[in-house]
Amino acid sequence: MHDFSFKRGKLYCENVSVASLVKQHGSPLFIYSHATLTRNFQQLDEALAPLDHTVCFAAKANSNLGVLRTLANAGSGFDLVSGGELQRIIAAGGDPAKCIFAGVGKTEEEIELALKKGIYAFNAESEPELIRINKVARRLKKKAPIAVRVNPNVDAKTHAKITTGTYENKFGIAFEEVEEIYERASKLKNLHIRGLQMHIGSQLTEVGPFEKAVKKVVPLAKRLAEKHGIEFFSIGGGLGIVYDPALESGEAKWWRSPKRKNLLTPAKYAAKLIPLLKPLGLKVLIEPGRFIAGNCGILVTRVEYVKQTGVKNFVIVDAAMNDLARPALYDSYHQIVPLAQNPGDHLKKNQISSDVVGPICESGDYFCKNRMLPAVGEGDHLALLSAGAYGFVMASNYNTRAFPAEILVKGNRAEVVRKRQSLKQLWASESVPKWLK
Ligand SMILES: *Cc1c(COP(=O)(O)O)cnc(C)c1O
Repeated sequence: MHDFSFKRGKLYCENVSVASLVKQHGSPLFIYSHATLTRNFQQLDEALAPLDHTVCFAAKANSNLGVLRTLANAGSGFDLVSGGELQRIIAAGGDPAKCIFAGVGKTEEEIELALKKGIYAFNAESEPELIRINKVARRLKKKAPIAVRVNPNVDAKTHAKITTGTYENKFGIAFEEVEEIYERASKLKNLHIRGLQMHIGSQLTEVGPFEKAVKKVVPLAKRLAEKHGIEFFSIGGGLGIVYDPALESGEAKWWRSPKRKNLLTPAKYAAKLIPLLKPLGLKVLIEPGRFIAGNCGILVTRVEYVKQTGVKNFVIVDAAMNDLARPALYDSYHQIVPLAQNPGDHLKKNQISSDVVGPICESGDYFCKNRMLPAVGEGDHLALLSAGAYGFVMASNYNTRAFPAEILVKGNRAEVVRKRQSLKQLWASESVPKWLK
């Protein structure tokens, strides 16, 4: 559920008309709903209420300061993957003591920063990393709180590029080796063994793989609690969202499982996992990114041209894969709707099979292919829904295209939470060598 809806045929974000925002701030434009963000966070938080738990929003999904502040205010902790993200979270008012630091490549500088800021735990992904964290902590005369990321070797049954919990992936330490690693880590004097972590993948649409992984790892967590006194078990993120409520056909839809009736909700997730986790008596962390931010945002784009080739109807828009990379990266589906709805739009006879494409010189620069959409023309605007997670954060300046602006809406208020980048900023830190006359 989200807070983008049609009122009298016009698309609104909460109580603000999307067309009015585009008129004021231009296109392409990311728009986020404060209510959706908060509700998604609270749904998960409340579902897990029977456990001592912290929801740590995965900042990589959407790290805009306005979004991070919204979640920090709601009580969220954060899962971060770089020193830059930690600085952002702090700038947004997040509490480092509720932050966990993931990622396979933490640098010494990042480890030092995180230690100085007092994060809750490093989620270490290899033994050399533990040795490095210990070394940096010794230099700073500190004890570094750590957890080890266990790779449970459970298939998340999601897209290959976002599966992380099998031995084909670079993430974590193999289940069978984890206890030995804790044994050796316990000899490193500047480590404080605090927890155990796992994360099996992203956009999971069934609870089954979570259940399987938790079942497999709980006995390990229990042994580690007894031997090393760990206090938390982080079960990672990965809860999927519904990108395609209409379930239109005609496009590859990798995330759609044939067992769709098992679709994931916080209630189902909690109902299956709480009975497994509660007897452990450990603090439970979860690290959702997409579930919280995915449906909170849209990307609005202007139709520049409609190009009919005899074979295809190309709708050429002013947003591109540099603004929203997911379709190009993962063949992902985003619902596309015009900002203004006409009464007959849902009728097949008023729709036309369309490829919505950006202006970039790459065949991968498309948002959908052969999709039945209401006919649109130059100057109309379209909204790509569910663009709040892994949207703006993956934007690039490819083709010397400036970053779009971002807007946060709350009720009938709308605020620019990131100004549109000016073109001059794009080459401001470049220079021509003096010897290149
Ligand atoms: C990316 C990531 C997450 C968040 O994944 P979502 O699918 O967005 O919930 C959580 N934990 C770790 C370690 C991650 O790398």
